[in-house]
Amino acid sequence: MSDQLPQDYAAPDLPEHDSFELSEATIYHLAPELNFPFTTSFGSYKRRDTVLLALKTTDGLVALGEAPTLPDPAFDSEYVFGVIDVLQRFLLPMVRDQLGGTLTHYDDFWTAFKKIKGHHFAKSSFESAYWQLVMQRLGQPLVGLWGGVQESVPAGFSLGAKTAEEIFQRAAAAVERGFGRIKVKIWPELDVVHVIGTLREKYPDIMLQVDANSAFDPRDPDHQRVLASLDQFELLLIEQPFRHDDIFDHARFQAEHDLRTPITLDESIKTLEDARTAAEIWRMFGISDRLFLNIKPPRVGGYWQSVLIADLALQEHLECWVGGMLDMTPGKWMNIIFASHPACRLPGDHMQPQPYYQQDIATPLPTLNPDSTITVPKTGMGCEIDWGAVEKMTVEKWIVKMR
Ligand SMILES: [Mg+2]
Repeated sequence: MSDQLPQDYAAPDLPEHDSFELSEATIYHLAPELNFPFTTSFGSYKRRDTVLLALKTTDGLVALGEAPTLPDPAFDSEYVFGVIDVLQRFLLPMVRDQLGGTLTHYDDFWTAFKKIKGHHFAKSSFESAYWQLVMQRLGQPLVGLWGGVQESVPAGFSLGAKTAEEIFQRAAAAVERGFGRIKVKIWPELDVVHVIGTLREKYPDIMLQVDANSAFDPRDPDHQRVLASLDQFELLLIEQPFRHDDIFDHARFQAEHDLRTPITLDESIKTLEDARTAAEIWRMFGISDRLFLNIKPPRVGGYWQSVLIADLALQEHLECWVGGMLDMTPGKWMNIIFASHPACRLPGDHMQPQPYYQQDIATPLPTLNPDSTITVPKTGMGCEIDWGAVEKMTVEKWIVKMR
């Protein structure tokens, strides 16, 4: 990455705004059907349960955040009913009882939530809704509030399929559709070298990367061999091969095996401090040019923490990009808007060749430009929420009075 910081970027400040008097919060459990199963090293999902959190103010503003975790605690320790429980039992009562249901500043709820360790997906649903309230109250687009500068952001296809044949078919469909980058989910039982070698031979110029979702063991010689052999395919990056909460072993493996392909940390980066620790460890090994960060706003507690991590990445000259969690359309648009931060230069997991869901809760869906980018919305949050669809798709909901 260039040593020059972008001239047109000024790190944003947290906004000042009139207070929000919350009247009620509604937690929705939705179970939307996917148009195709999504397979990773930890499972295959045909239906994706998710949690939405609506916040209403006494003066009629409404906002909807998502906690796009999984039904099971497989990506990390959070899961759908854990999010629902922590929202009901802790986060919403904290805002009601400690803050009187009134938000005068981002720091109000973020400081209140600090007592609750982890649970970043749950916190992020509240944080997403907060930003939508700020956007409405100030009449400013999210891109301005978060300091975004890129008018369009590169987008890639995240391919999670069960067999080599299925991977080849879906990769062909994505290339046909115009995606300039393909990310393939891998795991030790897949013939990784055959799959990636075949794809590289077929698409010599495409940006190709792999994501192991923490399925490999840094001490298993067979796993070491497979990962080290990926260097021959000129991949853009190898994402999170080792344990979901490890940082050190990733760096040590890269240094000891002189792996030229950069490693991206996903699951391991849950806080700004984690990102700092990773930068420091890679520096100690003398391999700072080979650490990339996947910033998923819900995984780190929301968009402001993501801005802070991206700012750190600029200072540390680390490449970044924005991953996804099969978020529904509002979350996807908010991720795209965050991805206009100047640190996020690599393609993000923002869309698929066909929509993720048979039904969605907002329109329009993101669309891919011919150059494999998505245009960043200059106004609002990129989409309108269809509240009728939210209600129709709801399996169960819980209303919490906030004052
Ligand atoms: Mg990942």
